[in-house]
Amino acid sequence: MSRLPLQAGNWKMNLDHLEAIQLVQRLGYHLDDTDYDRTEVVVCPAFTALRSVQTLIEGDRLRIGLGAQDCHWEESGSFTGAVSPGMLAKLDVSYVVCGHSERRRLFGETDDVVNRKVRAVLAHGMTPILCVGESEEQRDQGRTESVVVGQVEACLDGVEDRQVAGMVIAYEPVWAIGTGRTAEPGEAGATCGVVRAAVAERRGTDAAEALRVQYGGSVKPGNIEALMRQADIDGTLVGGASLDPDDFAVICRWHRL
Ligand code: PEP
Repeated sequence: MSRLPLQAGNWKMNLDHLEAIQLVQRLGYHLDDTDYDRTEVVVCPAFTALRSVQTLIEGDRLRIGLGAQDCHWEESGSFTGAVSPGMLAKLDVSYVVCGHSERRRLFGETDDVVNRKVRAVLAHGMTPILCVGESEEQRDQGRTESVVVGQVEACLDGVEDRQVAGMVIAYEPVWAIGTGRTAEPGEAGATCGVVRAAVAERRGTDAAEALRVQYGGSVKPGNIEALMRQADIDGTLVGGASLDPDDFAVICRWHRL
């Protein structure tokens, strides 16, 4: 099965809404229909910039998708500071990052919390980008596979197989995020293969073959080609390099390299 690669930029807590507009405009200049036919392109701005970016994408008919970096799992209520999946869906958000390692590490998100978010995002017709990945210590202990498979299993609990098929799972080794250290392409590809195999075993080959598995962790113009050559890597989740429209454009146009 051929899967359309997905290159998604996670801007984290960067760029106000004016800077966000500028970045998307510049990114748009770099990409044309031949790129969008080969690769889906998504940006995940901070909540405060979502509306501005949505308006720009709609007004200029850009083929750039909109993602959010997180959401709450409840519909509404007394959750000060939180944003609900319904609010995001109303803004034409298509993707929501769930369980990014920074959310897990800095905000105490457990697999159970991530699972609730994944199910809430799906219930609102959006696509979760579920992040999984081992810490440096777990890697040194040789536990990469068991950690990643455990996260996949726990975070997909209660999700139907056909929903899993439409999802994105981002394999992001924690030690490679924002550190400049990238997993060696073969190793990254092999662990993405482990994710797919775990899904195949539990959810069947149809779901596993349709599922898109991204790699994330210090992806840059210089390593995108080697990463995309891996059979089980269907795109990347990009932090730092997605803040530079020129660099992110190269990543989105990887097929031209
Ligand atoms: C990320 O934030 O998901 C990420 C992979 O960051 P970076 O590309 O900066 O390592």
